[in-house]
Amino acid sequence: LTPLLELRDLRKTYRLPRGRVLRAVDGLSLRVLPGETLGLVGESGCGKSTLGRCMLRLADPSSGQILFEGRDITTLPERRLRALRPLMQMVFQDSSAALNPRRRIGDLLAEPLRVHPAPDGRRRPASVIAARLSELMDLVGLPVQALERYPHEFSGGQRQRINIARALALTPRLVVADEPVSALDVSVQAQIVNLFADLRRELGLTYVFIAHDLAVVRQISSRVAVMYLGAIVELGETDGVLHHPAHPYTAALTAAVPRAVVGHPHAPVLRGDAPSPTAPRTGCRFHARCPQAQARCAQEEPALHTLRPGHAVACHFPLPPGP
Ligand code: SF4
Ligand code: MG
Repeated sequence: LTPLLELRDLRKTYRLPRGRVLRAVDGLSLRVLPGETLGLVGESGCGKSTLGRCMLRLADPSSGQILFEGRDITTLPERRLRALRPLMQMVFQDSSAALNPRRRIGDLLAEPLRVHPAPDGRRRPASVIAARLSELMDLVGLPVQALERYPHEFSGGQRQRINIARALALTPRLVVADEPVSALDVSVQAQIVNLFADLRRELGLTYVFIAHDLAVVRQISSRVAVMYLGAIVELGETDGVLHHPAHPYTAALTAAVPRAVVGHPHAPVLRGDAPSPTAPRTGCRFHARCPQAQARCAQEEPALHTLRPGHAVACHFPLPPGP
């Protein structure tokens, strides 16, 4: 199975004053398979959003490779990237920031359909655009009358439906959603997560779903990648990773969630703040905070390796599976 998206040893570094270097994405490899929902979790500042933006070439990586449907798009010039843009879309956390308050919803949704030619290379006639707009409203569960209204007339949840409609306008294959429900009331979150899940099934979409809330990730993801300081430290099927975390960091994250949701008997408590992503590092990137750390951890960086089928971890001393 060709991955829809593949990242090979991807790095994104930023040069800061006084010679410091921020390694937001630090040599990360990952495959996203067609039709899956890959949850990407980690504390804020771990590089999730930067990674999401690099995946879609909304930010340029410093090194490494990005393959979309097997094709290397790492250095594809913007004018050639334009033809691929419709296939890869992003949904952001803040539902209002992405919507120009002075324009009607119909206008906002029509924009991508006007800017990008149809797959046959022609401009879409107004009638085709109008038909697509009502289709989109239907897909995201809003009445067609919504097209005549302005963003402020909608609730946060409805605005996020509008953003999703806009991301879907050009029938993408890959959608990267960056904390798409974090700003919403808890009661609305589940509805939007369910909408994402329904749309995936209906339209055969593939998602990378970025979140810090494990309950949300658990609800929607078939696999989960746990990120810490720019790298994936654990990756596997959602239930395996969240119920039987092998990495002490994942165990600490899951322990912060009520045990009725996810829990692990060996869950250690996370000590201190994450070290600065600009600090020089040797050994395991988690060793300063790790309750399991041993001498080897300060010297040798653990590689992400397969622990059991469908479950990989970057730790010299992975936790045993729970009962
Ligand atoms: Fe902890 Fe060592 Fe594993 Fe790193 S390699 S997570 S420091 S036990
Ligand atoms: Mg973020």
